[in-house]
Amino acid sequence: MNYIGAHVSSSGGLEKTVLRAIAINATAFSFFTKNQLQWFSPPLMKQKIDNFKLSCIKYKFTPQQILPHSSYLINLGHPIDSLLEKSRIAFINEINRCDDLGLVFLNFHPGSHLNKITETNCLLRISKSINIALKNTKNVTLVIENTAGQGTNVGYCFEHLSKIIKNVYDQSRIGVCIDTCHLFVSGYDLRSVQDCEYMFEKFNNLIGLKYLKGIHLNDSKKKINSRVDRHESLGLGEIGEIAFEWIINNINFNNIPMILETSNPKIWKEEIIWLRSKKIVQ
Ligand SMILES: [Zn+2]
Ligand SMILES: [Zn+2]
Repeated sequence: MNYIGAHVSSSGGLEKTVLRAIAINATAFSFFTKNQLQWFSPPLMKQKIDNFKLSCIKYKFTPQQILPHSSYLINLGHPIDSLLEKSRIAFINEINRCDDLGLVFLNFHPGSHLNKITETNCLLRISKSINIALKNTKNVTLVIENTAGQGTNVGYCFEHLSKIIKNVYDQSRIGVCIDTCHLFVSGYDLRSVQDCEYMFEKFNNLIGLKYLKGIHLNDSKKKINSRVDRHESLGLGEIGEIAFEWIINNINFNNIPMILETSNPKIWKEEIIWLRSKKIVQ
């Protein structure tokens, strides 16, 4: 089964996310559980939680089809202890919000070293942040996303993600989400079937298929290895159509949320239709 959708807005109430997903014929979706530009939000009221859960049941979205995204403010590898602490608290807060909503995943970007510590030290801090978060929460699997390697972000190669995971004590609650735009601009070619297969073989060898919990489907405005993160609509960027046709027909991506974060929300519905039309074996 393919679960395909997009990162929808949560403005006007979390239950609106489900309606926005339905409006584009999605079978998966992603959203921010709170204003992503604020550190903290008041706890969710029971009524809001109930509305969201009822809406999911009504439109047949199981928690496995929903991949909430954490705030961009959080830096789990922050070099300054006081700010690292703030990030850790905000992260736990977000995990608890997901748990309250009955959700089982939280997608996050690993972190940045800000040129103050080494990448290795930053990766160790991230693992420790994850361990603290796991210890203080329950039920939710923490899904690390590969990054474009822009600025001082770590997590732009499978080796980084693998290092983070190796230092996590409860690996049953850790997952990985791969973003195709981030892969491409950080140097993983995806322009031919062979390139895609090579990338996936590397993923499987260094991280392992069992950790794959989601995929962000984005074409890229920028060239391979540019380390600049600019999403483009599918087929209109530097990656091209082949990678997305390959993904949709690859059983390894079955039963995980496949999320568009492409640049033009007006054509998300058409992009989803296009993806489904490329499926060879239904
Ligand atoms: Zn992404
Ligand atoms: Zn991106």
